[in-house]
Amino acid sequence: MAYRRRSSIQMQAATETVAVAPASSTAERPAKPRTRMMRQYDLVERVRSYNPDTNEDLLNRAYVYAMKAHGTQTRASGDPYFSHPLEVAAILTNLKLDDATIVAALLHDTIEDTEATRAEIDHVFGHEIGALVEGLTKLKRLELVSREAKQAENLRKLLLAIADDVRVLLIKLADRLHNMRTMEFMPPASRRRIAEETLDIYAPLAGRMGMQEMREELEDLSFFVLDPEAYAVVKQRLDSLAERNRNLIGEIETQLSKNLQKNGITARVFGRRKQPFSIWTKMERKSVGFEQLSDIYGFRVILDDVGACYRALGIVHTTWPVVPGRFKDYISTPKQNDYRSIHTTVIGPGKQRVELQIRTEEMNQIAEFGIAAHAFYKEARARRMSG
Ligand code: MN
Repeated sequence: MAYRRRSSIQMQAATETVAVAPASSTAERPAKPRTRMMRQYDLVERVRSYNPDTNEDLLNRAYVYAMKAHGTQTRASGDPYFSHPLEVAAILTNLKLDDATIVAALLHDTIEDTEATRAEIDHVFGHEIGALVEGLTKLKRLELVSREAKQAENLRKLLLAIADDVRVLLIKLADRLHNMRTMEFMPPASRRRIAEETLDIYAPLAGRMGMQEMREELEDLSFFVLDPEAYAVVKQRLDSLAERNRNLIGEIETQLSKNLQKNGITARVFGRRKQPFSIWTKMERKSVGFEQLSDIYGFRVILDDVGACYRALGIVHTTWPVVPGRFKDYISTPKQNDYRSIHTTVIGPGKQRVELQIRTEEMNQIAEFGIAAHAFYKEARARRMSG
């Protein structure tokens, strides 16, 4: 989805400033970067928390190797350069990825930016990790070439073609996410170019890989840079609405779980507010104002198994009137990126339109973390089977 500047707010911003809109100091940033650099021990702990069989020695060696290789290099913020690959690795531990991916993340800028070579990395860390790091190096060079040739629209296809190991793309996305989170010290022109590229290429790529959480954060960070005024307006409205509806959400959550409980179904129910960028594109797409958007809150109903999903659906539909045309069953017919869930909208407690996503925990993980979650569940299943 291309980002088009159409609204009056945006036009104004474009004429008042020359080509580049500075980040507004009034708008609150979408995400705050971590302030303290993570220690070696913290990283190992993070990995061990989801992978008890992690090769700690390997992680430790990669930490030290990358730290030494980047030496005294610094980032635009003045932070040691090494803080970047370290944070990229940390993002990937949230996706519970394997040792090779975490190690390659620590090393991902070494071939390009330090004295390190592919041969040396192969020698020290093995061929698998060497190949991952070289994949990242290739992507970075490709990015520079297509940027100069203004072929951004082809970059996404090229990315997919060149990365024969999906872990390379996962590291690339985490790399982009960390750069987007920490771009405030960059010159405004590069900030803008990188945000456009993120919105055009990397956010859709994350979506295609089924990683909704990553996609949303990339979109919001880009939106904040490209159109700080619009971002601030939507964010402020979302915040005041959240303030006004604070009790309502809890009430709907309680009512939903109570109704299911009464029918012998245990569910985890939680309300989830949409992000500024998705609200904004919806307003543009439908040409409506903020007040006319009815589905600013979505509710997740997480159940133990598929049978419980359909029983919960039956209970919801017999308790509250259904809004026509909103029912979709992606459990029986998954989306192409393997997304599975039941969607429906009802006129729920308090006569509120309530958008529901009904799914199992595994489906929920796959909806949020996509390809990364697949690998994790496959491993967990194998572990269960082997005892
Ligand atoms: Mn990097």
